[in-house]
Amino acid sequence: MPGRIKVTVLIDSKDGRRSDLHRVHGLSLFIEAYDRYILFDLGPADKYLIENSEKLGIPLDLLDAAIISHSHSSHAGALGGLGWVSPYLDTYIPYDTMPHLGVVAKKNGLRPIELLDWRELWPYIYVTPPIYGPPWEHFLVIKTSNGLLVFSGCTHPGVDKVVSILKDRFGEHVGIYGWIGGFHLSNAPRSIVMETVKKLDSLGLEIVVPLHCSGKTMSEYLSSTSIRVIDAGVGDTIDIDG
Ligand SMILES: [Zn+2]
Ligand SMILES: [Zn+2]
Repeated sequence: MPGRIKVTVLIDSKDGRRSDLHRVHGLSLFIEAYDRYILFDLGPADKYLIENSEKLGIPLDLLDAAIISHSHSSHAGALGGLGWVSPYLDTYIPYDTMPHLGVVAKKNGLRPIELLDWRELWPYIYVTPPIYGPPWEHFLVIKTSNGLLVFSGCTHPGVDKVVSILKDRFGEHVGIYGWIGGFHLSNAPRSIVMETVKKLDSLGLEIVVPLHCSGKTMSEYLSSTSIRVIDAGVGDTIDIDG
């Protein structure tokens, strides 16, 4: 399995270690994986994506692809800014969003590609078919030598549906190494948060990086499991051995 994976949190709802960045409700991750540069979600507006990337020295002009996990504006809001820094970029948009996100992407000089089924972008790097939340949501999945690494925007469909899709593709005994992103639990009842954390623990995950809409309660519960919780916010980087 080639190389290492480095994730930089460009936009998040949580503060990170730096104080000079915009912290806004939304998510955007810059992922360096196996010599590819991938943008996963864009955050809510051009200004935050562009200015945070500049301050962090992130080369958005060298991206190989952008993926929008789902249509919520806190994830899909910066198509104008992206088109400006990275014209003609292959931009994977959620199922059934061609009439709006696709049109906006095209107008801004990007190359929108609608996600309809499993998509292998490059060896070891995949995007899931649409999984219904609502809305339709897609997950980036990277194969590592320790198992699958899953990236989520909000996990609106819930962990179970995502795992069953992963089993369809990678086999019943698929190993999931880690999960990075939103879990949409910040306003959920404690019982739901606990149930989700138990599920993740029973899957044998080694690391979880709860971002965006995951909420404090989730981190509390996670800390009582054997999962390693990486506390990250805007501007932070996470290094993973591929
Ligand atoms: Zn959402
Ligand atoms: Zn959310």
